[in-house]
Amino acid sequence: MAALANQLIPWQKKYGRHDLPWQNCRDPYAVWLSEIMLQQTQVATAIPYYQRFILQFTDIETLAQASVDDVLSCWSGLGYYSRARNLHRAANVILHEFDGSFPQTRELLQQLPGIGRSTAAAIMVFAYGQREAILDGNVKRVFARYFGIRQYPGETRTLKQLWRLAENSLPDSESADDIRTYTQALMDLGSIVCLRRKPLCQQCPLQQRCIAYGEGRVSQLPIPKPSKPLPEKETIFMIYRNDNKILLKKRPEKGVWGGLWCFPEHEIESRKNTIFSWMQPLKLPQLRHTFTHFKLSIYPCLQDVRVNNTVVSMDMVWVHPEEALRMAIPVPVKKLIQSHLMG
Ligand code: SF4
Repeated sequence: MAALANQLIPWQKKYGRHDLPWQNCRDPYAVWLSEIMLQQTQVATAIPYYQRFILQFTDIETLAQASVDDVLSCWSGLGYYSRARNLHRAANVILHEFDGSFPQTRELLQQLPGIGRSTAAAIMVFAYGQREAILDGNVKRVFARYFGIRQYPGETRTLKQLWRLAENSLPDSESADDIRTYTQALMDLGSIVCLRRKPLCQQCPLQQRCIAYGEGRVSQLPIPKPSKPLPEKETIFMIYRNDNKILLKKRPEKGVWGGLWCFPEHEIESRKNTIFSWMQPLKLPQLRHTFTHFKLSIYPCLQDVRVNNTVVSMDMVWVHPEEALRMAIPVPVKKLIQSHLMG
């Protein structure tokens, strides 16, 4: 099994990535932040967010003591906001339950919000040089192809098999440098060579032993998840405008866009009754937004109102559109403000 590591380590040293802002850093906080950002985000997109975040929240204590709103605002635009809320929660657990010192075993790390086995392992490898196996989405794809796995990797049995392969493929050496280079190599290979579509097999150090390549099955592996069409949902965004300010409402912590500021929403059926019978809102063009588990059609309506008292409640504010763009808002709200409410 060491064959994989023997191919990957020299390849990483020569062709891998060496100058990402979080590389060559042993600070577990910085490593943790980068691993969380990279969970569902491409490296190029994550870099400016990472740099901004670490500048604003320099260490675990600063992050723990910041307001969730500030953390979400810094995260705004990166998506999957539960990651930011979990970072904030985990920073508080570290500060209050671990006396501010970062957990130093994978098992302890996995108890923190938002940290699964693979992320915990990657942090242990990069921060402490521990010998742990990773298995993120990219690595699953590489292993499914290299080992020729013929079942969908999301199935429990197949996942167990992949974890076993990941553990057995670790480099034989106990050297911290080797485990770091090997882990980075797997990540690099998945991101820049063994791509989901059109992998660059001609540049791959694993080509000779890769089962998918040898059998001409690269485009068929990994076996995709048996697919179901995404459900469709609809909503109305009511954009109330009062003397050039717009009304934003804070969403509940749990659920879609949790904790972000959004336009008040109405059920699509409500167009037929009460609120719409006395108003004549201007209908703006429809927007579509796709989440991992459903598709949302948004029907934005602009309504000018006259209200003297602009203090509404803790979770509702009237703000100028420019100010709203600096708040933690989801992408469709940002698009609507930029297209229809500026200037
Ligand atoms: S040979 Fe191709 S399919 Fe196999 S691991 Fe390399 S890039 Fe992936």
